[in-house]
Amino acid sequence: MLAIAGIGHLVTNDPSLGDGPLGVIRDAAVVVGDDGLISWVGQSSEVENHTSTRPLDVGGRAVIPGFVDSHTHLVFAGDRASEFAARMAGEPYKAGGIRITMAATRAATNDQLVANARRLASEALASGTTTIEVKSGYGLSVVDEARSLEVARAVTDETTFLGAHVVPPDSDADAYVELVCGEMLGKCAPHSRWIDVFCDRGAFDVDQARTILMAGAKAGLGTRLHANQLQHGGGIALGVEMGVASCDHCTHVSDRDIEMLAGARATTVATLLPTAELCTRSPFPNARRLIDAGVTVALASDCNPGSSYTSSMPLVVALGVISMGMTCDEALWSATKGGAKALRRSDVGGISPEMRGDLVVLEAASHVHLAYRPGVSLVTAVVRSGKVMSGQLDFSS
Ligand SMILES: [Zn+2]
Repeated sequence: MLAIAGIGHLVTNDPSLGDGPLGVIRDAAVVVGDDGLISWVGQSSEVENHTSTRPLDVGGRAVIPGFVDSHTHLVFAGDRASEFAARMAGEPYKAGGIRITMAATRAATNDQLVANARRLASEALASGTTTIEVKSGYGLSVVDEARSLEVARAVTDETTFLGAHVVPPDSDADAYVELVCGEMLGKCAPHSRWIDVFCDRGAFDVDQARTILMAGAKAGLGTRLHANQLQHGGGIALGVEMGVASCDHCTHVSDRDIEMLAGARATTVATLLPTAELCTRSPFPNARRLIDAGVTVALASDCNPGSSYTSSMPLVVALGVISMGMTCDEALWSATKGGAKALRRSDVGGISPEMRGDLVVLEAASHVHLAYRPGVSLVTAVVRSGKVMSGQLDFSS
């Protein structure tokens, strides 16, 4: 059992528990039971009535739900620092860089891939990410995609089969789509919760994406989609039509795309990945336009060695606010509850009874500081399922 008291500003993401859309409680406390689930949330002064353990006092610091990073590519080998340097020297981003990582990934041992994925997952955890989705997509062969997903399973249950990341070199696109939908899917589905397709210029077109997603759904996988990152196209329309959990990137969107995402029966979240735009010096998606239209927006890191080599959700939140027109409340919500919705999870992304005991203590008076103090490491402790994973919680002495 874990009890935390003296929380100056607690973001619950449950408006019925506190003030405003984030349900903020001041001078709050949280109790997590031995099952790792939150058993009580309320005023600090009442905590003793709800726990048998000594409450740890965080000394007025802010506490927020653990971040839910719903889009990462952590299974790979090598890095692409020289490609990054070249791009910063003026060369444009092309999806083809994926093939360089593919070669390094195929050449790596399982142990090397697991070690790299674990290193990045712990880096993410230390910056407050308590739920993380991890995709395959750098193997691009039956054997290498299947082992990539076994590696992903070593770090998370939210695993996504992305055999359709790009057509590997020397392959025919139609034959590759057939392989992805057939033998590759058969070997990967047992290790996957989701299937994803990179539907964009230089990757897969709308018809190919539809074929692949339908095959995945038939095999029992949830569907999600990389859509409209590099150009306008039919990716978002396809995603909404198929009811995918999330269309990710949504950088180039038409009024019709927004209408579809905001439609009364739409169940698809728009997941924005602003560090991909940051690291490729591309225009940011217009989050304000999406939110004002009523679209459910999530924020995620897209952590990958090519276009967004960061696992920092605090940075993503800061960009959401500073560069994409989100309010501080909206960006925090999108990086927690929004991410949970993009993964169709109701047990994470908030701090209320029965949810998983995932929370982050900030060296700050409120969540506003995540954007107000960009680039500063404010995450001082991280708790997952009621266990302290990094930092310390007791500031009473
Ligand atoms: Zn991605």
